[in-house]
Amino acid sequence: MTVATATPRLVRLGTSRVGFLHFCKVCGEWGAYGYEASLLKHKAGIWYCREHRPDAKQGGPL
Ligand SMILES: [Zn+2]
Repeated sequence: MTVATATPRLVRLGTSRVGFLHFCKVCGEWGAYGYEASLLKHKAGIWYCREHRPDAKQGGPL
């Protein structure tokens, strides 16, 4: 894991398509859960995978 990998960023997928990549802040895996993220305000926010998201401690296994 590197800090650069965990940093949310925009990537070019083609001539006109752009994707938003966000990875878990803890382990660097794909982060499906974003916090304080707002594309409208250009805030990348903080992202976590299911295992490391803060709410996981209270939610238990799904
Ligand atoms: Zn994680």
